[in-house]
Amino acid sequence: MSKAIPEHADLMRAARQNGHYSGAISIARMPRFAEYLASREGQVDVDIRLGTDEHNQAFLQGTANARVQVLCQRCMQPMWHDMQASFRLLLLDSEYQLEGLQDDVDAIVLNEVPTSLYNIVEDELILGITLVPMHDEAQCDAASYMHDEHQSREPALDEDKVSPFTVLKDLKIDG
Ligand SMILES: [Zn+2]
Repeated sequence: MSKAIPEHADLMRAARQNGHYSGAISIARMPRFAEYLASREGQVDVDIRLGTDEHNQAFLQGTANARVQVLCQRCMQPMWHDMQASFRLLLLDSEYQLEGLQDDVDAIVLNEVPTSLYNIVEDELILGITLVPMHDEAQCDAASYMHDEHQSREPALDEDKVSPFTVLKDLKIDG
């Protein structure tokens, strides 16, 4: 059975015990991540498992599903935006262990024990931020505005307006 996400945990110990944490973290508890957002409303559903791999190396892996408010980069209105981050990190006791790791392996050095799980999740969410979030075009104020503007530039079919072509035709008839 999973436990609620503790703010801090002894991750090496949790890895030896095959720990499993699952629960929600409020966006308000992640101030660095919140700086990228339009508000501190919303939460992150987090699921984290810890264990040791075949090399007896401790790891943490998990997913974070966030529902957050961001500014649409087209109309600059707030919008709800779903984000997902998934991550797997080797847990290291010291910086020295970073040497020799393959490039595609992510790792975290546990300088502080207990370690902040909130910080780890927050870092992963910041890495996954979409640079240019936008409404779907159908829901975006700016998109419908641009659409209207585009239409008004199309040739007018208004019969009251006399086109140069019509004038030329009349001249021909008169002459
Ligand atoms: Zn928009």
